[in-house]
Amino acid sequence: MFNLKEKIRPNILALKPYSSARDEFSGSASIFLDANENPFNAPYNRYPDPYQSVLKAKIAELKNVPVENIFLGNGSDEPIDLLYRIFCEPGVDNVVSMSPSYGMYGVCADINNIELRNVLLTSDFQLDMKAMLEAIDERTKLVWLCSPNNPSGNLLKKADIIQLVESFEGIVAVDEAYIDFCAEATLMPELEKYPNLVILQTFSKAWGMAGIRLGMAFASTEILGFFNKVKYPYNLNILTQKKALELLDNREGYAEWKKEILSERSRMISELEHMEKVLVIHPTDANFVLIRMEGANKIYQTLVENGVIIRDRSKVVLCDNCLRITIGTKAENDVLLSELKKM
Ligand SMILES: *Cc1c(COP(=O)(O)O)cnc(C)c1O
Repeated sequence: MFNLKEKIRPNILALKPYSSARDEFSGSASIFLDANENPFNAPYNRYPDPYQSVLKAKIAELKNVPVENIFLGNGSDEPIDLLYRIFCEPGVDNVVSMSPSYGMYGVCADINNIELRNVLLTSDFQLDMKAMLEAIDERTKLVWLCSPNNPSGNLLKKADIIQLVESFEGIVAVDEAYIDFCAEATLMPELEKYPNLVILQTFSKAWGMAGIRLGMAFASTEILGFFNKVKYPYNLNILTQKKALELLDNREGYAEWKKEILSERSRMISELEHMEKVLVIHPTDANFVLIRMEGANKIYQTLVENGVIIRDRSKVVLCDNCLRITIGTKAENDVLLSELKKM
């Protein structure tokens, strides 16, 4: 049913990628005079490994997935943009997304001149399956799903995601940026079964590495062949690769941070439940919580004046009077709670 080559833009199918010095020779040698690098200032004088094989091997072990099914990018932003550039013909093709969700799907659609069809979620932020399927037509190349979703925080129903993956003949991209906070819900075990499934994850959230810009895409070897053809040759710099390897060699912090964030999340929710101004606390599986408050914008402004920044989502569809609060340290959360109590 799913025919990858038919879905790829013709110019990308035909593209002959740039061949770097490191593509043409990748064995071991002692003298490298092939890449016009400076012989001084080691190790930063050398171009990084274009396919990040050492880091990928570590991630393969972490995620229990073969190296050939991993793509690493400059944040998740890179694979998001690559999906448009590989599959969607500007001015011709369209993509379907759920709304409200992450803003980058729309920004990248605009940059690439691709029509984005936003399908409203249900009032409990689940997929409206009938409307999703109706929005798809023969020029739809890509469906965006985000689970747990930003800004609502909830997981989508797995059965709905699977139904879309099975019935749609294009790419279904599932953004799992927050999945480390509810690891058992990942779709990674389904990857082998579905040649049209792409899963995005990141080091920016639970791993505490937003600053190094490291995103992951998991997909079939065939799809990732096109990712590798289109990406900038040296898309991940040496510092990012080195720092990520350090983190993966010492994961105690990661486990502790996650535990602390999840326990603070429960505490925040039970504190917020007792506040009269809090009308709704939306269920969350992520490191943030979306709440509906009377006079949300005013509350947001007052918090800003007191040096506490949260995200005002009150103008977003289905998020009337909603504020999105990231879970911080206990001390940070306490300041926010006491500011809210004063209002
Ligand atoms: C934070 C976030 C990301 C992560 O983006 P990076 O570019 O990897 O930092 C991806 N998707 C969603 C929905 C997010 O909220």
